[in-house]
Amino acid sequence: MYFINVILPIPLKQTFTYSVNKDEAHFLRPGMRVAVPFGKTKVYTAIVYNVHSNNPPAYETKDIHQILDEDPIITPKQLQHWEWIASYYMCTLGEVVRAALPSAYLLESETIIVLNEESSVDESKFSDDEFMVLEALRNQSSLHINDVRNILDRKNVVSVTKALYEKGVITIEEEVYEQYVPKMKRYVKLAPQYTSEENLRSLLDKMNSAPKQKEVLMTLFMLSSQQKKPIEALALQKKSNTTATVIKALLDKNILEEFYEQRDRVQYSGEETKPIKALSEQQEQVFNAIKKSFDEKEITLLHGVTSSGKTEIYVKLIAETLKKGRQVLYMLPEIALTTQLITRLQNYFGEKVSVYHSKYSVNERVEVWNNVLENLQKAQIIIGARSSLFLPFQDLGLVVVDEEHEPSFKQFNPSPRYHGRDAAIVLAGLHGAKTLLGSATPSLESYYNAQHDKYGFTELKQRFGNVLMPEIELVDIKEKHKKKLMKGHFSDRLLEAIQEALANEEQVILFQNRRGFSPFVECTTCGTAPQCPNCDVSLTYHKHKGQLRCHYCGYHMQMMAACFACGSPTLDTKGFGTEQIETELKAIFPEHSIARMDQDTTRGKHAYAKLIEKLENRDIDILVGTQMVAKGLDFRNVSLVGVMNADTLLNFPDFRAHERCFQLLQQVSGRAGRTKKRGTVLVQTFNPYHQILQMVSTNDYGGMYKQQTEDRYQFKYPPFYRTIKFTFKHRNYDTMQKASQWFAKALQLQFREYVLGPEPPPVGRVRNQFISNVMVKIPKQQSLAKTKAVIQKVEHSFNAIKDFSGVRLIIDVDNY
Ligand code: ADP
Ligand code: ZN
Ligand code: ZN
Repeated sequence: MYFINVILPIPLKQTFTYSVNKDEAHFLRPGMRVAVPFGKTKVYTAIVYNVHSNNPPAYETKDIHQILDEDPIITPKQLQHWEWIASYYMCTLGEVVRAALPSAYLLESETIIVLNEESSVDESKFSDDEFMVLEALRNQSSLHINDVRNILDRKNVVSVTKALYEKGVITIEEEVYEQYVPKMKRYVKLAPQYTSEENLRSLLDKMNSAPKQKEVLMTLFMLSSQQKKPIEALALQKKSNTTATVIKALLDKNILEEFYEQRDRVQYSGEETKPIKALSEQQEQVFNAIKKSFDEKEITLLHGVTSSGKTEIYVKLIAETLKKGRQVLYMLPEIALTTQLITRLQNYFGEKVSVYHSKYSVNERVEVWNNVLENLQKAQIIIGARSSLFLPFQDLGLVVVDEEHEPSFKQFNPSPRYHGRDAAIVLAGLHGAKTLLGSATPSLESYYNAQHDKYGFTELKQRFGNVLMPEIELVDIKEKHKKKLMKGHFSDRLLEAIQEALANEEQVILFQNRRGFSPFVECTTCGTAPQCPNCDVSLTYHKHKGQLRCHYCGYHMQMMAACFACGSPTLDTKGFGTEQIETELKAIFPEHSIARMDQDTTRGKHAYAKLIEKLENRDIDILVGTQMVAKGLDFRNVSLVGVMNADTLLNFPDFRAHERCFQLLQQVSGRAGRTKKRGTVLVQTFNPYHQILQMVSTNDYGGMYKQQTEDRYQFKYPPFYRTIKFTFKHRNYDTMQKASQWFAKALQLQFREYVLGPEPPPVGRVRNQFISNVMVKIPKQQSLAKTKAVIQKVEHSFNAIKDFSGVRLIIDVDNY
């Protein structure tokens, strides 16, 4: 008798046993896929966990339907890593598998298949079944796997869909993310030989016979005298009222020269690569220190101020790792950030760079998966967001986690709720690879580990090329209000600075943490503020759309003309968001181009990349945005950053709020003055004496670390305690309340004062579900395994209580 244990991609704890025959048993290896029956009607794609011939289970096992792979598509190391994730983050291996595998590998009932219009396949090679599915797809645009079952009148259709997929006849439907290819702008300038006055005069004399061309040149001179920025070919053509042919004639005669800005953002075309930049002396020192620390330690933290050249150091380390023939994983918190980075790395490493992200199409993801699995040349360096750590690396030599402090490394929904940085560290350990964490504002956890010798540590305190850190000034808007020096939400100081930057043709970034026009609307007569019907939160006013919107569930309605409660037409808007700042700016600076970057303006395909491109091309003078503008972007011409109101960041009810505020403000400041001229940052606040803001203004990371770790110690939070958060959700308030109270009590029996709650989050009802949280704090010396075993027991009993069967329980380990 032979058996296999398999992992099913569902949230059930155990593996499942199926019977196989002798030949199958010899052929099958862990990490291969098999199609197996489950329940009465379902067929799942399962992953072989192990093959054995002992301990037949007490129940009758079913046979597998079919083997789907010739070779494993998952490596033993991956399985080991995924088991760690499942155990550490308290979820099932099936949930990890579901998150890890590109969905094309898990064809199942909910999958929708569509005809691939581009395929041209020899139909004579089709089986009858394949042909029937093809026929059906020609009549309707898409099919559920369940439809396919009905068409073929059998349960197991995996082999058919898999064959069609491999033949390229069908594709799997999904939201597809295409990589944005930036357009380049063409600029023109006078050829260098005409910059001397003498040559220029003789040129102009000669050109009397070509008045149209002369006109273009005269316009060019005029434009050059008005603006410092380069002159766009198209703008020149329009201004001089001429045609592209005339400009081309000037180019052909070598009177004008053309050039493209953003040359290095072109898609890599497979040609030459640039040499790696020589490191500065300081960078060289840090580079050597990192290598030295790697001799002793697995993990090193690089604390380098914004624009100090951390990326260039990563590049050197990557080059050395490649030389040893090992793979590199370069993780970033969000794919949005990669646009600038991909090109930078491709310039150095050419086609060795691959990008992996859950928003890429399934086909692209399967391709990268296979390239990594086969350790191909084009998959030596993987850039990706957190999900890239699920790839089947063969021999990982280096993991770089850039912006390691970013909260978005933590996955929340769906499970597994893993931290990308921490899971990557474990992955590196399995491969005997080194991990480099980089940040200008490290997380307290990582900095603590570095201070306590668990991680190596190096520092870059200066920006590259002796560029000064921006000057950060706190502007007391309480005072400004009193003295009537505010215009809308702008202090006189901020307006002055914006004016000055614009006069110098420099760009400005303004940061406001809230989107929309104003967070709520209030009736001045009765004080009623319109609420979301599904959530316990006020609706946010979006003036542009004339709507009130809920930022938690997406509910929206027309802005009303009069108060619902009392009918009074005097409605007042309270607080402010990015949209309001944009509106005010447009009134104050009507001559300048103003843009907004927040969730509302970056929804569309490529909208984010386009905004970045516009900013780089200086088509935007002032950019207003939420924390999206704080991300590690590198803009050359931004000299001023303004923070509209720092106070909302400080007043967030979360133990990481102050750390987060410091990081955000430092990161946003880091966008200012990245080239020669020293940048300015103005932080408007009602609390200029707040310790955190003072530390922001003096770039005092050390002070912030010291003060925050003292707080964390006193209040028993990370890095001194681990936290596990339990969230309970139910439509009925009482049920939710009872369930969370029961759970908290059960935990208290074991963990006593280390259990907090239950208590509702700031928004206690979302999408009609009432919410409550319980938290357990785990001292460092307490066994994590035993703690989790206790929790699992409690969870088990909880699940057995009928009254709570509808309550959703979410467990979040190391919650953010
Ligand atoms: P960080 O990652 O620390 O924010 P970057 O690596 O983006 O810093 O460096 C900031 C800027 O300085 C980039 O434009 C980069 O190309 C440039 N730079 C950094 N180091 C060097 C170097 N050694 N030689 C030339 N340019 C460098
Ligand atoms: Zn009213
Ligand atoms: Zn809502």
